[in-house]
Amino acid sequence: YLAKSGGGGIARYHAEHDRARLHRLELADDLRAAVDAAQLYLNYQPVIDLRTGDVDHVEALCRWQHPRRGNVSAQTFIDIAEQAGLIGDLTRHVLVLAHQQSQAWRSAGLHVPIAVNISATTLHDAELLQAAYDWHHSDPPAGPLEIEVTESAVMTHPALAIEQLQRLTNLGVRVSIDDFGTGYSSLAHLRDMPVHAVKIDRSFLVGTHQDPSVEHPAERSVEHGGQHPGDRRRQRDHALVESIIQLGHTLDLTVIAEGVENAQTAQRLRELGCDEAQGFHFGRPQLAQQLTAALRPLRAEPTPPA
Ligand code: C2E
Ligand code: MG
Ligand code: MG
Ligand code: MG
Repeated sequence: YLAKSGGGGIARYHAEHDRARLHRLELADDLRAAVDAAQLYLNYQPVIDLRTGDVDHVEALCRWQHPRRGNVSAQTFIDIAEQAGLIGDLTRHVLVLAHQQSQAWRSAGLHVPIAVNISATTLHDAELLQAAYDWHHSDPPAGPLEIEVTESAVMTHPALAIEQLQRLTNLGVRVSIDDFGTGYSSLAHLRDMPVHAVKIDRSFLVGTHQDPSVEHPAERSVEHGGQHPGDRRRQRDHALVESIIQLGHTLDLTVIAEGVENAQTAQRLRELGCDEAQGFHFGRPQLAQQLTAALRPLRAEPTPPA
C-alpha cells in the first residue's frame, strides 16, 4: 500500500502521522482549558415514545466550541478526553450542566428525565455514585437522571458492571445500553444487567431508511441477478432490527432506536413494536431553550382551574 503511493510514500506517511499526533496533543491541551473556559456546553435531543408521540426523555450530548477551530465533533474530543485522562473532568462538568438544566425544567413544571452518556473509564468511579446521589437530593429538586453506557463498556468486566449498575439503580438512576448490537453481548450477562433499555445502534437503521420490499431502479444491477448488494444489506439490517426488538422485549427491556431520519423508518419501527425512537426526524440535538418550547405543550403539568 505504501509502495503503491509512490514518491516518498513512507516519509510522507511519517510526516502525516506526526502531524496528526501533534494535532491531537494540541487538542488535548485546548480541551483541558475548555473545561474551565465554558467552551463545553450541552445539546439535548428528544427521545420519543412511538405509541404516544410524546417526549419520553432527552439525551444530553456534549459540544465543544473551539475558539479557533469551531465546533469539534463529540466523537473526536471524547476520544481525546479519554486518552488524555480528561474524561473524569469532562463528565463532572457535563453532570453539573445537565443537573442545572434538570432543575430548571423541573422548576418550570416540566417532567423531563435527562440521559447522560458515561464512558467505560468513569462508570466505576465512586464519584459517579456521589453525583447520582447529589442529583436526586438537590435543592431545588431536579428531574430523574438516566445514564447511557455502551455495550462494550459493560461487557468488558460484566460482573463489576452489574455491581456498579445495581448501585446506580438503587440510587434511582435508570440505565440504557447504548450502541447496542456493535459490541459482543453475552446473553447471560445481559439477562442479569440491571438496565431498563437498549438503544439499537444507528448503523442498523441506516439500511432501513429505504423499504427493502420496494425496488430501487437506480441501484439495480444485472451482475447480481437483478438484486443490488445494497438491497440485501437493507433486508438484513431490517431483519436484525426486528430480532433486536424481539430480544429486548424477551428480556423485558424498553427498546429505543437511534438515528431515525424519516417518517417511513419511524412507521416501520412502530409496526415492529419498537418502544421509543430518537433521530433527526423527531428532533436534532439542540439547546435546551429551543427544546423547551416543544416540551411545554406535551409535558406541562395541568394548570389548576382559576
Ligand atoms: P451516542 O451516545 O450514540 O449519541 C447519538 C449520536 O447520534 C449523537 O452524535 C447524535 O447527534 C447522533 N444522531 C442522533 N440522531 C441522528 C440521526 O438521525 N442521524 C444521524 N446521522 N445522527 C444522529 P454526537 O452528538 O456527535 O455524539 C457522538 C457520540 O459522542 C455519542 O454517541 C456518545 O458516544 C459521545 N458523547 C457525546 N456526548 C458525550 C458526553 O457528554 N459524555 C460521553 N462520555 N460521551 C459523549
Ligand atoms: Mg448515547
Ligand atoms: Mg447511541
Ligand atoms: Mg451511537
